[in-house]
Amino acid sequence: MIDQLTIDRINDAARIEDVVGDYVTLRKRGVNLLGLCPFHNEKTPSFTVSPAKGIFKCFGCGKGGNSVHFIMEHEQLSYVEALKYLARKYHIEVVEKELTPEEEAARNDRESMLLVNEYAQKYFTNILHNHIDGKAVGLGYFRERGFRDDIIRKFQLGYCLDEKDGFTKDALKSGYKKEFLVKTGLTIEGENNYVADRFRGRVMFPVHSLSGKVLAFGGRILKKDEKLAKYVNSPESEIYHKSNELYGIFFAKQAIVRHDRCYLVEGYTDVISMFQSGIENVVASSGTSLTPGQIRLIHRFTENVTVLYDGDPAGIKASIRGIDLLLEEGLNIKVLLLPDGDDPDSFARKNNASDFIRFVEENSVDFIRFKTSLLLNEVGNDPIKRAGLVQDIVRSIAIIPNQLIRSEYVKECSTLLDVNEQMLYHEIAKIKNKQLESKLTPKTETETAANQQPKLEQSEKPGQTAQKFENEERNIIRVLIKYGSYLQFISTDENGENSTPVTVSDYILHELETDNLSLQNPVLDTILREYKLLPKDSATDVEKHFLNHPDVAVSQLVADLITEKYTLSKIHSKFRELETDDKRLNELAPRYIYEYKLALIIQNRKEMLLKMKKAAESNDASAVGQIMKEIEQIDYFKNILSKELDRVLNLL
Ligand SMILES: [Zn+2]
Repeated sequence: MIDQLTIDRINDAARIEDVVGDYVTLRKRGVNLLGLCPFHNEKTPSFTVSPAKGIFKCFGCGKGGNSVHFIMEHEQLSYVEALKYLARKYHIEVVEKELTPEEEAARNDRESMLLVNEYAQKYFTNILHNHIDGKAVGLGYFRERGFRDDIIRKFQLGYCLDEKDGFTKDALKSGYKKEFLVKTGLTIEGENNYVADRFRGRVMFPVHSLSGKVLAFGGRILKKDEKLAKYVNSPESEIYHKSNELYGIFFAKQAIVRHDRCYLVEGYTDVISMFQSGIENVVASSGTSLTPGQIRLIHRFTENVTVLYDGDPAGIKASIRGIDLLLEEGLNIKVLLLPDGDDPDSFARKNNASDFIRFVEENSVDFIRFKTSLLLNEVGNDPIKRAGLVQDIVRSIAIIPNQLIRSEYVKECSTLLDVNEQMLYHEIAKIKNKQLESKLTPKTETETAANQQPKLEQSEKPGQTAQKFENEERNIIRVLIKYGSYLQFISTDENGENSTPVTVSDYILHELETDNLSLQNPVLDTILREYKLLPKDSATDVEKHFLNHPDVAVSQLVADLITEKYTLSKIHSKFRELETDDKRLNELAPRYIYEYKLALIIQNRKEMLLKMKKAAESNDASAVGQIMKEIEQIDYFKNILSKELDRVLNLL
């Protein structure tokens, strides 16, 4: 963790026009600067930088934030990484928060392991380029494969000499502890102080983290020995969880964002060959089938994935199951089948970049279409096998979260499979119902009553309630942060007399407190609670406080809030668009409060109706009567609030 003082110092130094200016040509437009957005393709500039506020905002794609957010987005870094990046640029010393002894120990372990890996990578690279055996065997092998020297350097490839413990001895001599050599798996430890190099006689492929740290190695044997595995990888460790990493992601991430597509291949050499041929947005799952962690990693950068296959049918069939996982994550999947006998590596070597790219573009097919025709070929005219195939395809379609895309597939597969659309929809509905049932099946016997849940509850997922009020809550927090200290708001007492000026924040906080309301969205609620604790003096820059917040969820949300246009109600938007918020606080502050309270009441009423339905079903007359009374109460308040809201909306 970086301490607040350092974050403030970084934010003060990293002037937004300066940081953005490194990547975007900016022109002055009034008090702001304007340029072409680096995050989406545009011909007329809609990317705005406000030096006064220290923020950027694109009115085309909606991206916005302060200098740190810009670097996060542009360089695809985490919050802390982006802060450190800017600290380096502006020569600011980074002070990290003190850790507990346990945290300190764990961090030291991880850091020691990363240091050992860094040492090992440099060691193996040095041998590859400078040792006589390294050059002859290792470098010779890479060059024979057609890897250019700049690519060999870029991917930090190396060679481990074919000696029992040459590397381990040198590492110990250089002061690295045996403990960490063993923990990273570089060294194998046996009884009676026996040690050996895990990777001896192998060319080395370092596996980098998203930020470029060496987490692990893959080593390929060069001599022919039936007893030895062709590839050996670092074991799982505190710093290396194979299922969460993708080979090549560090080098590919920017290209993935730029092209909004990720190519997925199987091995290290596939990645390197494709990268060399100019296709840089490529990663490998390193032999294992895809895991949810790897899929999430891809999803951070794009929704579009193209999976490359060599023409081996058995291999293709085996990996098809894994691809269903990608569909489930909501990714759009294409498949590219390479010509017979070629893998991505050999194909990239045979073709130059533009041929390769053209081949990819012309031959990528949609995954479900691919799967359908592949299996269709196999089943031929056997009606039973065919029915099984329909089931299989339908299962793939059913897990796609987006309904629009689903119906596209239904259309297409109905033609391909020669089955009518209605029947496919029917099958999909059956599968979805089953999924729903298994999700809703009570875990304990006491919950069996939940089986008869009415429809409304079934369709609600956890977290949905919190989203329900998000617009209302955002409006409240936005007005608080932007205009909290404004005095022009006039409050009247119950008789509508004795107008007294109060600040917007006093009004809003008072309104929320009298009804004992918190916010449902956890980030917005954090902001609200922290807002109450801020000193109420002119020296407190509330916007800046939250923009520089150490919690990136907070700072990003606030950056969004202060740049977004408020959501005008549909009926009243016509005449108001030209007015600015601050002229309308008398209307806006109460309106947002009433809208929020009204939304809560309406939700409450819905819940009551459900309760009543349940009570009616179990013939509990007294409960029904009680609930009806409560609903009457709710309606009474709802009425008052609606009237108040109407009055406010009609203020002119
Ligand atoms: Zn944009």
